[in-house]
Amino acid sequence: MKARAFIAAVGPSVLPVPVEAYAAHIGGTVSAEPLGDQEDAWSVRLPDGTYRICVNCGQNSRRQRFSICHEVAHVVLGIPAEHEAPSWSYARRAPGEVACDVFASELLLPHKMFKPKVDAVDPGMDAIASLADEFDASLIATASRFATFSRELCAFVLSEAGKVRFCARSTSLRAAGALVRPGTMLPSDSLSARLRRGDTETGPVDAEPDQWFDDWTRSGYLYEDSRHIGQWDQTLTLLWFENEELPPPPAERERWESERTGLRELDGILPWPDKAKRRR
Ligand SMILES: [Zn+2]
Repeated sequence: MKARAFIAAVGPSVLPVPVEAYAAHIGGTVSAEPLGDQEDAWSVRLPDGTYRICVNCGQNSRRQRFSICHEVAHVVLGIPAEHEAPSWSYARRAPGEVACDVFASELLLPHKMFKPKVDAVDPGMDAIASLADEFDASLIATASRFATFSRELCAFVLSEAGKVRFCARSTSLRAAGALVRPGTMLPSDSLSARLRRGDTETGPVDAEPDQWFDDWTRSGYLYEDSRHIGQWDQTLTLLWFENEELPPPPAERERWESERTGLRELDGILPWPDKAKRRR
């Protein structure tokens, strides 16, 4: 919410959003200089109350844009930097750093500009890659927010070395109780695991919900799309259900059916067909 208020005050109207305008709003000037391999950026408050933000010129421009927003976040939120752990590792981020990452993602992919575009496309890694180009943001940041804002039952899963590190879910998927638990290994016959092993096939493909989601007993058709980034051994997975609603859990469904059959004669038609007609 603080990020949205900040964006409203700066008022970006073009894409990709100019991150220098965010920096300027806190009285910050940005310079790109060579920093250590694992260092993204640093900022310092000058005696006159302005800020100097320095980003690593050795990193790609999308990373630099994110880093500038991250430094702005430290100033706006008043959170001191803890930059010892490498920022590419989701495994060892301090809570304050995570908060600044969330703030930075909002600045790069403002809800007001991003959400209508999420609603306008079919889920998939191609759509996410196009949005990442349009917003000049990383695939991971874009995919994470894509899943969060999707009106579909949708999740984005980030894995490192084949192990789930992070899962972002749409509101409806959270409500359905579907969770890909951090710390678990990628399902071995999933597209994600196959791409990590070097396969070159492209998604989306059919996936098994019970292989991905913790304690999953509901049915529903699940799709999976994935990209693997060999350089960091990171696997990006997008999961989404075909329909915007799922059949209820078995217990609830049984109760519903028995109440229903108690009220009228059996006609042999099940309220939730086991094999719904698929869209494709
Ligand atoms: Zn930081």
